[in-house]
Amino acid sequence: MAAHQDHCEICRRIGRARSGDDPALIAETDTGFAVMGDSQFFRGYCVHLCKDPATEWHELPRGRRLRYLEETAQLAEAVAAATRPHKINYECLGNQVPHLHFHVFPRRLTDPDPSAPVWGQMPTGTDAAGHAFDPRRDGGLVESIRRELSRVRVPG
Ligand SMILES: [Zn+2]
Repeated sequence: MAAHQDHCEICRRIGRARSGDDPALIAETDTGFAVMGDSQFFRGYCVHLCKDPATEWHELPRGRRLRYLEETAQLAEAVAAATRPHKINYECLGNQVPHLHFHVFPRRLTDPDPSAPVWGQMPTGTDAAGHAFDPRRDGGLVESIRRELSRVRVPG
């Protein structure tokens, strides 16, 4: 099974979130940090980073794994309320960065291929630049997802 990496990208990002140095931070949850995705090609794309450096969801103790899933669902509910998509897609992969995290994608019928998974649809290289998270452009979206998340959050 894949091991947690020594220089883990997600641990570094959690460090920035803890120090108040991440403009893409939406909120800290009991089990993680909700942040905006690096690409906003799918507007409203978020990631729920797990505080525990587990590589597999089933490695978390039972109460913790249920709470993490509950809070991921709350983030998805907030994204849905803020962006009114046709569908939400959840992805939990970790093949490239094996530190537990869930992707939450709002999907729209106007997506390049609405019935296909997101991977392969997001622009790469120079085409990606215009979709990178931009605090000036996306600050309002962060605020609105944060507001919806505080509305739907249920204490654990
Ligand atoms: Zn990590």
